[in-house]
Amino acid sequence: MKKTISILGSTGSIGQNTLKVVENLKGFLEVKYLTAARSSSRLVEQANKFQPEAVAIVDDQAYNEVRDALSGSKIQVLGGREGVVEIATRDDVDVMLNALVGSAGMEPTIRAIEAGVNVALSNKESLVMAGEIINGLKEKTGAEIYPVDSEHSAIWQCLSGEVPDGISRIILTGSGGPFRTKSIDEFSKITVSDALKHPTWEMGKKITIDSATMMNKGLEVIEAYWLFGVRTNQIEVVIHPQSIIHSMVEFVDGSVKAQLGLPDMKIPIQYALTYPHRQPSSWEEIDFSSLEMLTFEKPDLDKFRCVQLAYDVLEQGGSAPAALNVANDNAVKFFLEGKIPFSQISTINEMAVQKHDFVKHPDLDYLLELEEWGKRLVSGDW
Ligand code: MG
Repeated sequence: MKKTISILGSTGSIGQNTLKVVENLKGFLEVKYLTAARSSSRLVEQANKFQPEAVAIVDDQAYNEVRDALSGSKIQVLGGREGVVEIATRDDVDVMLNALVGSAGMEPTIRAIEAGVNVALSNKESLVMAGEIINGLKEKTGAEIYPVDSEHSAIWQCLSGEVPDGISRIILTGSGGPFRTKSIDEFSKITVSDALKHPTWEMGKKITIDSATMMNKGLEVIEAYWLFGVRTNQIEVVIHPQSIIHSMVEFVDGSVKAQLGLPDMKIPIQYALTYPHRQPSSWEEIDFSSLEMLTFEKPDLDKFRCVQLAYDVLEQGGSAPAALNVANDNAVKFFLEGKIPFSQISTINEMAVQKHDFVKHPDLDYLLELEEWGKRLVSGDW
């Protein structure tokens, strides 16, 4: 059975991997819409190759370039953030894959679910910021979320055929990032290029920095909370440096299921797009005889304060996780621009949670305001 899809953020790392999956499943997946933030030439190249009905690009200058380049084609070109949101509301696709980066991904997820479109979700920030809103809308429209994040894809696969009250614990694994063995005294000397060297996964810059601070694992705890309907104290983080076990679920009878695979995002992307079926792939397979060992350790919560912070905001509820998320988006941006040291990312995140205007049940307008507030936060203008 053929499926039509849209890809938000098609020029980024997840977007490009998704198009590789589309090529692997030629005849099964058809791309209808693509969007990008500012990579005009890559978007044009993708549009020429996959012939979508429409594309959208956020940046003004890039919009002009894409419009000119595609002027002789039948492909419609939309511009601005509104263009991306409009693509998200188009309900003539079977699945929308949201691979946007950071808070900017939240509104398109909400709009898609509102329009009854199933979402393959790579943008974990959507659920971190607006989990309550999104789950409410899912119930109303019947739209589904298919996790793309490798850990959540693993848990989802482990939960297949299980009943909710059988779950005892969700065990999220994480590689520990590049600074797992570094002492905290050396954290102030970490450079951007140190932080961009992830030991096992090849990813976009934002998530690579989030992995280095382990904020990524914290955000994934919150994401798991909204996806799987468990209590905060049922979600545990375990460090597994080899990134072969992508996560596990322990059941009340003591049985544990794990999902394994090489660290390759094409595997969870393809599963989210073919669900509930599986399709063959041509990716590299695990050679078990070459795996020397799989090891596990506790995360160091003093060194990686962002993990504890995620548990704390989940306990506080309301707008606290959203405040953490917008602060982190901007702290990471400022670190990448060389404006703040690595060690300050977690400090800014903590401060933002304390200082923001707490709301018990934030609506979309409030969350969009918070997104703007986050941008001012790090530059010190509050
Ligand atoms: Mg992940």
